[in-house]
Amino acid sequence: MTGIKQSIEERIDRLQTGGIIDMHFDLPMDLYEKRQRRDVLETEFSSEFEAGNVSVVGAAIYIEDRYLPQNGLRVALDQIARLYAETAASERFVICKSFSEIQSARETGKLAFLITMEGIEPLGTDLNQLRVFYELGVRAIGLTHARTNSAGHGGVFAASGSSAEGLTPFGREVVRECEALGIIIDLAHINPAGFEEILSITTRSPIVSHTNVRRYYDIERNISDEQIKMIGVRRGVIGVNSILVSLREEESTLDHYIDHIEHIAGLIGIDAVGIGFDFFEFIYRQWPESRQKELAAKLTTPHFIPDLRNHSHARNLTRKLIERGFRDEQIEKILRGNWIRIFREWL
Ligand SMILES: [Zn+2]
Repeated sequence: MTGIKQSIEERIDRLQTGGIIDMHFDLPMDLYEKRQRRDVLETEFSSEFEAGNVSVVGAAIYIEDRYLPQNGLRVALDQIARLYAETAASERFVICKSFSEIQSARETGKLAFLITMEGIEPLGTDLNQLRVFYELGVRAIGLTHARTNSAGHGGVFAASGSSAEGLTPFGREVVRECEALGIIIDLAHINPAGFEEILSITTRSPIVSHTNVRRYYDIERNISDEQIKMIGVRRGVIGVNSILVSLREEESTLDHYIDHIEHIAGLIGIDAVGIGFDFFEFIYRQWPESRQKELAAKLTTPHFIPDLRNHSHARNLTRKLIERGFRDEQIEKILRGNWIRIFREWL
């Protein structure tokens, strides 16, 4: 290895050491689908987490259409149950409910899961359930996925056509109660009207856990420059998604992922940029072709970035940030520092 190469590798090592924080991963639904098996975390995920120095993961409860409406609550509880059982079976993982628990997990080298909820379907229309999920450890909530539910409307996977309506009265109650309890409010997926309304009725720093910018992928599920600026004014953090980087497969590259980071940082500063990889290929490849086609018809065909497909590739991101001229303190903010600020404020 040449001297220059070696020093870049050392710089990557140093930057990775403090850990990578990914605020959106569809882990609980996968654990649920594999509920007849044991040690799934250990056998299928731990080596990738370790290779990528991943230290905190937002583990998102999500209920697929086929379980709704009858089984939303049941499946959500089962997803959480599987996450608890799997973490209890391993020394490497821990579910965290507070900032101090996250910090002590990081200090002891354990991977911290923060349970999040993508779409409030499990609550039905019962605000009391929110308290129950809080007690179980849910610490971030996005009101909707792409669907409409009892809280509001999701942003469509098209440049226009989302509902013009904001939140329902129940949606507003959920948002207020989240802020009162200390559940981070996540604006990922919500339609533009709902996005603005949530900001108008909250005071703490918002997050968009996993999204891309409309400048490069113009769908209402992503966020516009105006929305990015609204997040900036409120000192929020936006996690950059790896699967909606471009409508075109050939443009779905690690360099273009960095373009999304640069675009947000250019508009509102580096303090607003985090990671929400939304790695999905591990689920997608388990699906039969019919189901992949169904996703394409309902939403979109995801394009996976060749060298950013799973957590073991986090090091490639750090290398690319260095190549693109980011300074160490900027890279540290993107990889973890900005999310840690949000955890300190909320949890
Ligand atoms: Zn999502």
